[in-house]
Amino acid sequence: MAQATIRKVPFFVYPDIYQSDAAEIDETIRAVCSRGAFIMQRELEEFESNVAELVGVKHVIGMANATDALHLAVRAAGIGPGDEVIFSSHTMVATPAAVHYAGATPIPVECGEDHLIDADAVRAAITENTKAIMPTQLNGRTAAMDPIVALAEQHGLMILEDAAQALGSRYKGQAAGSFGLGGCISFYPAKTLGCLGDGGCWLTNDDHMNDQLRLLRDHGRDSSGDVSVWGLNSRLDNVQAAILNIKLKRYPEAITRRREIASLYDSMLRDVPGLKLPPAPTSDGEHFDIFQNYEIEAEDRTELRAYLSERGIGSLIPWGGKATHQFDKLGFHQSLPFTERLFERVLMIPLNTSMTDEDVVHVAQTITQFYQDKDF
Ligand SMILES: *Cc1c(COP(=O)(O)O)cnc(C)c1O
Repeated sequence: MAQATIRKVPFFVYPDIYQSDAAEIDETIRAVCSRGAFIMQRELEEFESNVAELVGVKHVIGMANATDALHLAVRAAGIGPGDEVIFSSHTMVATPAAVHYAGATPIPVECGEDHLIDADAVRAAITENTKAIMPTQLNGRTAAMDPIVALAEQHGLMILEDAAQALGSRYKGQAAGSFGLGGCISFYPAKTLGCLGDGGCWLTNDDHMNDQLRLLRDHGRDSSGDVSVWGLNSRLDNVQAAILNIKLKRYPEAITRRREIASLYDSMLRDVPGLKLPPAPTSDGEHFDIFQNYEIEAEDRTELRAYLSERGIGSLIPWGGKATHQFDKLGFHQSLPFTERLFERVLMIPLNTSMTDEDVVHVAQTITQFYQDKDF
């Protein structure tokens, strides 16, 4: 038999972040570096106001990465030793780490059917020490925020979002990162708006948070050089900001494409027994999802993953297969049965702007074939 060419579909194609805009990036790097404009220069300010406009938020503070942004935001909010912050355990370990390093205690709770923080679980976890709720706007979807905001108001709690995966995602028209005291966004290469290295920012409508974070990211210094708080160094590089300005121009297009791919997966995989899909892009009028990831629930997940891998299709089990509270060396003692069961089933299949429709169809057909062979 002649060797069939296998259509390879990697989970993510890192070189494409550069290749897709190489000429413009090269030119921009040359221009910025020739000026010696490396730290806190014009391109950073431009990027901050561009993102503010795109999202519809008052302040954007560029920072070294989303983890720093979240951590410094916890500090800026005055959260510290003795305080508790409630978060969904289905998230990156960066979420609770941001709380831990402020000296406070991260309290993991269950997620719901859409894999995002569950308001009933939050309510049950509130104690007299609770200071904030930290929803992760996971996979590019913004949690149903009405019940979360209601709980926060009722109990006098702050809201700080881990919106690292959710730039441009909305709930009832309001952007991820604009609830409560705001949220972090990540520009890690594989994120929906990726730079050529690490980068992040904080979004907020709160003037105090803006003032504090501008100090905290730059050694606590104000423009006169006076130091009023203990700060750190967590600035977004100006070169990265310049590159992000290029990427941002094409961002709305990129989101449209991600939603198209999600629709295609939905139409092809909806009726496959053994699978549960994320909500479709147009499944309700309240959510505008940007599909950072396409996270399915799959029977025989590990077998499916191997089947795909043998056929050149990449996939990823989120966070190495564990919800954060299952990293028991970090001192968590909670048992969260819904989330733990979910982690035996979740799998992320390729969804990125390097993919053609043919790639998407091939992935969907291969998954369908797996379950036909298994005869579910
Ligand atoms: C990527 C990510 C982070 C960390 O972002 P960095 O910019 O790499 O620090 C935090 N939380 C979530 C949910 C993420 O996906």
